[in-house]
Amino acid sequence: MDAIIVGSGPNGLAAAVTLARAGLSVRVYEGADTIGGGARTAELTLPGFAHDVCSAVHPMAFSSPFFREFGLIDRVQLVAPEISYAQPLDGGRAAIAYRDLDRTAEELGRDGPAWRRLFGPLVEHVERVSEFSGASMLRIPRSPITAVRFGLRVLEQGSPAWNLRWREDAAPALLTGVFSHTIQRMPSLGSAAAGLVLATHAHAAGWPIPVGGSQAIVDAMADEVTALGGEIVTGTMVTSLDELPPARAVLLDTSTRAFLELAGERVPKRYARRLNRFRFGNAAAKVDFALSGPVPWAVPELAAAGTVHVGGTRAELARAEADVADGRHPERPYVLVSQPGVVDPGRAPGAQQTLWTYTHVPRGSTADVTEAITAQLERFAPGFRDVVLASTITSAAELERYNPNYVGGDIASGDVDVIQLLARPVLSRHPWRTPVEGVYLCSAATPPGPGVHGMAGFHAAQLALRDRFGVREDAREKIGAVL
Ligand SMILES: Cc1cc2nc3c(=O)[nH]c(=O)nc-3n(C[C@H](O)[C@H](O)[C@H](O)COP(=O)(O)OP(=O)(O)OC[C@H]3O[C@@H](n4cnc5c(N)ncnc54)[C@H](O)[C@@H]3O)c2cc1C
Repeated sequence: MDAIIVGSGPNGLAAAVTLARAGLSVRVYEGADTIGGGARTAELTLPGFAHDVCSAVHPMAFSSPFFREFGLIDRVQLVAPEISYAQPLDGGRAAIAYRDLDRTAEELGRDGPAWRRLFGPLVEHVERVSEFSGASMLRIPRSPITAVRFGLRVLEQGSPAWNLRWREDAAPALLTGVFSHTIQRMPSLGSAAAGLVLATHAHAAGWPIPVGGSQAIVDAMADEVTALGGEIVTGTMVTSLDELPPARAVLLDTSTRAFLELAGERVPKRYARRLNRFRFGNAAAKVDFALSGPVPWAVPELAAAGTVHVGGTRAELARAEADVADGRHPERPYVLVSQPGVVDPGRAPGAQQTLWTYTHVPRGSTADVTEAITAQLERFAPGFRDVVLASTITSAAELERYNPNYVGGDIASGDVDVIQLLARPVLSRHPWRTPVEGVYLCSAATPPGPGVHGMAGFHAAQLALRDRFGVREDAREKIGAVL
């Protein structure tokens, strides 16, 4: 066997595809009974209702160099709604981020010009902005001007100066809804950096949703692995590297904690100490709903939004995230909502709908957040309770039981603050390589971090090809590697 991959999340499968395409024999071991990690789709509530168990929306699906090389858009139908995301506000108001930047700015009133100045130059150079989320941060950017523009915006929106640009409450609330994806106290550089990348994509190709659910993405990758002669073995949780058959390279789509357990005594003490300093973040708790019809938003336009960030103004969102950072469950939490039926009506029978939601909670929480999420939805969509047919709660603790990569329910496999964006999981130009010979980390605990983009697996596989199989630079360049 040339290469073994432990874990069949999007990164594990991206590594397997990359190695199999290079002509190597590969085998993937997956602990669960089905493949896919954070990209599975299942009937979580009622028969015929297909819910994304973890990831639902894929802002990097069009821009990921791995997905481009893989040919994702030829294999999976990805549809980007006209409204990328929206932020309902009290008083029957809402701020809306259309794919169309100009329309967004026009509807933001007095803050429209400031929104356009913030995003115009980034959207114009979206390819370069994508690079910030595509590789290790310890690289010289290919477009220093875009890097400086981006950096200045991060400094502004990630600091106490973040309100100086705005005159009203809608635009900053809209932006903070995206910043809040990172589960951080705000303002912070990490949430601004990740949020500005996501928000730039929202005004470029948009935030696509796969028809059939996220499972379609990992199924396409798994099909490619098997078509190239690779094997995928499910229902096999690996507990030690010694259990694995001999292979020249082993790539672990696991948490850093699992790596330390799997490699045991083989890990040099110094590296183990560095990995033990890698911090896990706070967590998500998820509620999936089966609905009899669309969400009755007070602002009817929101029915066309792929993603809705619920929680009110910038100040309210910052307060809710500060509560989580302080170890509390917010009374009025931030709720991330995806409405897949906007582009994929087949997710539920007839005119019925699935609704995907999660909120942020302290790490390890066992709380049932169904009522807190329902109350926030009812606040901006009066009558929401009346359309609920069924719901399923997955607490933070249950998320970890579902997938050991989400330590304590940390869905990013490691806190996403600015330090851990640079040192993920350690400060290195090649953080995917471990000191254990032939063993690589390829999960979201390595750059570029969380999200379904396959780039961590792709980078780790490129490095293994170079280190272990002597595949040269020109071959890597062919597939757009940015090592
Ligand atoms: C609730 C939730 C919502 C999310 N929403 C989004 C979203 O909308 N958009 C987005 O882009 N991202 C989203 N994410 C994040 C995204 O799902 C992850 O960043 C991504 O799946 C990470 O991919 P990965 O391959 O690194 O690991 P994972 O997808 O976590 O896969 C790891 C796999 O390895 C297996 N494994 C681990 N240890 C072992 C072992 N020892 N032996 C065998 N198998 C093992 C696990 O069972 C799992 O299948 C979300 C995550 C969660 C949990």
